[in-house]
Amino acid sequence: NVGDPETQRRRRLLWLMDQYLKNDVPSIQKSIVDHVEYTIARSRFKFDDFEAYKATANSVRDRLLESWNDNQQYYRDNDSKRVYYLSMEFLMGRSLLNSIFNLGIKGEYAQALSELGYDLEVIVEQERDAALGNGGLGRLAACFMDSLATMNYSAWGYGLRYQYGLFRQQLQDGYQHEQPDYWLNFGNPWEIERVHVTYPVKFFGKVEEDWVDGRKLIKWVPDELVEAVAYDNPIPGYKTSNTINLRLWAAKPSGEFDLQSFNTGDYVNAILSKQRAETISSVLYPDDRTYQGKELRLKQQYFFVSATLQDIIRRFKDNHSSFDDFPEKVAIQLNDTHPTIGVPEMMRLLVDVESLEWGKAWDITTRVFSVTIHSVLPEMLEKWPIELIQALLPRHIQIIYKINTIFLEEVKSKFGNDYDRLARMSIVDDGEKKVIKMASLALVASHTVNGVAWSHTELLKGSVFKDFYDLWPHKFRNKTNGVTQRRWLAFSNPGLREVLTKWLGTESWITNLELLTGLRQYASDTTLHKEWNLVRRHNKARLALYIEAISGVKVSIDAMFDVQVKRIHEYKRQLLNVLSIIHRYDCIKNMTPEEKKKVVPRVCIIGGKAAPGYEIAKKIIKLVTTIGERINDDSDIGNLLKVIFIPDYNVSLAELVIPASDLSQHISTVGNEASGTSNMKFAMNGCLLLAARGGSNDEIQQEIGDENIFMFGAKADELGRLRAERRNFIPPRDFHRVTGMIRSGEFGHKEYFQELCDTVDGGDDFYLVGNDFASYLEAQARVDKTFVDRARWTQMSIMSTAGSGKFSSDRTIQEYAQDIWGIQPVERF
Ligand code: PLP
Repeated sequence: NVGDPETQRRRRLLWLMDQYLKNDVPSIQKSIVDHVEYTIARSRFKFDDFEAYKATANSVRDRLLESWNDNQQYYRDNDSKRVYYLSMEFLMGRSLLNSIFNLGIKGEYAQALSELGYDLEVIVEQERDAALGNGGLGRLAACFMDSLATMNYSAWGYGLRYQYGLFRQQLQDGYQHEQPDYWLNFGNPWEIERVHVTYPVKFFGKVEEDWVDGRKLIKWVPDELVEAVAYDNPIPGYKTSNTINLRLWAAKPSGEFDLQSFNTGDYVNAILSKQRAETISSVLYPDDRTYQGKELRLKQQYFFVSATLQDIIRRFKDNHSSFDDFPEKVAIQLNDTHPTIGVPEMMRLLVDVESLEWGKAWDITTRVFSVTIHSVLPEMLEKWPIELIQALLPRHIQIIYKINTIFLEEVKSKFGNDYDRLARMSIVDDGEKKVIKMASLALVASHTVNGVAWSHTELLKGSVFKDFYDLWPHKFRNKTNGVTQRRWLAFSNPGLREVLTKWLGTESWITNLELLTGLRQYASDTTLHKEWNLVRRHNKARLALYIEAISGVKVSIDAMFDVQVKRIHEYKRQLLNVLSIIHRYDCIKNMTPEEKKKVVPRVCIIGGKAAPGYEIAKKIIKLVTTIGERINDDSDIGNLLKVIFIPDYNVSLAELVIPASDLSQHISTVGNEASGTSNMKFAMNGCLLLAARGGSNDEIQQEIGDENIFMFGAKADELGRLRAERRNFIPPRDFHRVTGMIRSGEFGHKEYFQELCDTVDGGDDFYLVGNDFASYLEAQARVDKTFVDRARWTQMSIMSTAGSGKFSSDRTIQEYAQDIWGIQPVERF
């Protein structure tokens, strides 16, 4: 006991801590059973698979917390520049396997559980997906978290902790029904509630002005106050001690406010009305492309960014006394325009709260923000009614007006009084619609704006934001999306992982995906072909079992698994796929037995959710299930064609489906898909792509070679003309025959499907389904022909994987870090 009391205390704490948790099998077992007894409060002699999952997850979390704590301390001491990734959506999926894989302790965990009588594969299935996102945009944010952690960046993700994630899709009689996804029902072992990390968030009320010492003070007096509480989710990098944080905010009633209402005597109603604050973070909006100007959605956006910016500023102020260095220490990336209300909020915090003068605050703001755009059409851009912002955020509307006035002066100084241009570029549209254009606000305040694939960025520069590109060409960059090969290849396809590692002679591809090009030299090696196809058959067998379990339909793994899984949308053209399936069915029905022998058997797998209010998309689902029932039961058809709709498509199902697919379809109308990311996952796993032009399909084609992909359909420069002339276009006879079969009631539900057919054969085929039908069928015929040439197909499959190196999110993140954020990896040894 030497030293002062503080030294003695620290010494004791260090001794108590002893050392980090050990990762040998007995230590892991001990931590699991300890959690069974003390966290789950069950007997170590009797716990079921779900309890085993929870105890296992808690034991992994303990290990994550150690590195997370060290990391945060290291960042603080190091004072390195941090990047903050702000996204309304994080589609994380499950965490258990990801965590133990990245920590490098999967083998130990599997053995530890096995000796206790549990099977890791069964245990991981107990976990509910964290589905805090709709599709591509949210999954991109999740892949970015994995890459940021793995590449040792000092990064934080910020989002909302929705109590209800994306709805669960149930089919009743083949129709989609939405069920709430109360994913937190049985607890979430991956998060840590930070009861002390809370910030007040204000709404409504009025703005008051006061003069103090010759300075105008602006005070926002709100009518509603809500508390934002932080929930931290540690995100481990692969084979690094870097564990970063995804901080999600939950809304809680504020304890401080409303003394007045509590004094009115209606105590119970006062409590109940405060309780409603929680609704702000209760539900994820299930529309992935359309924006409804709903007050609650704007409240969510503001709630999330206000808490986030307060947190960022608080962290900065912990070791800085002036804001001069703020842009050298902070980069903020907006994932689409959803967090754009953060721009006026940053100005409010700097000017009204931190007392910076406007010019200085604006300089800081414009040096920290950058924005990623995911939209492809001007009419899809987010706009909020001025009235709504005015009522909900009275101070912010003033700030937006001021930003706009100064901005329009700049436009005038460059382009003169070009009133059309000024009106187009104005952040405030106070014409008939009276809205605030969030993309314009984001562009004005950001030092960089990026599209998510080459063709998309060109579209932004050339049409969607042409005026802004004319003004600030230097702001525009492309950052082609990517996906993490850890989740999407290394651990969702363990068979292929082994084959890749063996043939490449290294597992370094797990952090350096460009190494996959090393496979090209073996693309025609028959030994590799054998191993490759063995893995693929194994994966297909797993999916076949799942299909049988959910549908009762037995599918042959010798058949081609032809897959289209993604959100259901007219522009994604599931209908093009379905119409061709009906065409195929009809052709087979009319074949002689001899002709049938030449048919390539197919299992057509379709999955995806339709937004709850999107009637046409829901009809597409019903059409798939309807024809599936007919075809799967038709004894004339047998194994030659099966049609399966996989309900409730989510990240975990994607992990099962993608490695088992022979062919996958990415057939959105040209110019309508910003990037697409599932195409990258399929290609990486050796699945061949049937792809329309545009988005990242073009870049995949470039990387893997024209001869290894089935491209079809209109070209980008034809879109305008084809759209304009679509009413005069006469689709091929086969097309009308197929829609005619549906219209005539051949599959039943005659009335129900008329409207769906109208969208493509009623003279207003906006997504050019009829236009591309012939080219699509021709590409499908090439697919069939190639599939029977097993050596050729396998070679193409290997070349798809070999050419996928570019599509790692590690590459994307490295480009963002270098060209946009100005951050370096911070490795902690
Ligand atoms: N939904 C889920 C569950 C996903 O995992 C992905 C990406 O893999 C997507 C949607 C996006 O798919 P796409 O790029 O085909 O639209």
